Amino acid sequence: MSAPSGTGKTTLVERLVARVPDLVRSRSYTSRPARPGEVDGVDYNFIERSRFRQMIDENAFLEWADVFGHFYGTAAADTEREQAAGRDVVLVIDVQGARVLGRRGVAATRIFVLPPSRAALEARLRGRSAGNEDEAILRRRLETARREMAASADYDYVVVNDDVDDCVDCLRSIVLAERARAEAMRATASDIAATFGA
Ligand code: 5GP
Repeated sequence: MSAPSGTGKTTLVERLVARVPDLVRSRSYTSRPARPGEVDGVDYNFIERSRFRQMIDENAFLEWADVFGHFYGTAAADTEREQAAGRDVVLVIDVQGARVLGRRGVAATRIFVLPPSRAALEARLRGRSAGNEDEAILRRRLETARREMAASADYDYVVVNDDVDDCVDCLRSIVLAERARAEAMRATASDIAATFGA
């Protein structure tokens, strides 16, 4: 899942994973310092830049990207562990990361979340930063949002986060529909067919 910064994706994903069984959010690694209220090991795994570089060298990332001058990445071992346990994993990553997954042929359903409008996004960003980030950073985030939104056409699904409940309903429908794809249901279908005998 990708969405411009401030679109509300953290809330959406929290609610989505609470409503869908066997669905978990991946916890990214980042070299960005924690914002007030963020907890290491909960919101992100906050690590030093040097440690991040080391993990790149160790090929530890399924994908990683430099966003706003900080590194962000998904550890391959984390998603592998969840998938081996039969769970689907939601990666909340930027458009560069989503492209890397595509290039690497990683099986993924790509969802882009749009804010309802530029004004709504700006209001959210201002509310969240509460004076912690300066105007220049805000401008840069809005400009990045404008550019990122052009990438939404490359995704499998596009949803608008106007009403949070409606948006979560829509995301849940997407996950359930993807799980019901004939391809994904092959083993179940053959198990059921087996109960009919030869
Ligand atoms: P923030 O600093 O606001 O939490 O996140 C900034 C951007 O980094 C967001 O677009 C977010 O989706 C993206 N991001 C967070 N984790 C990852 C990750 O593991 N990989 C990539 N490629 N982007 C990430």
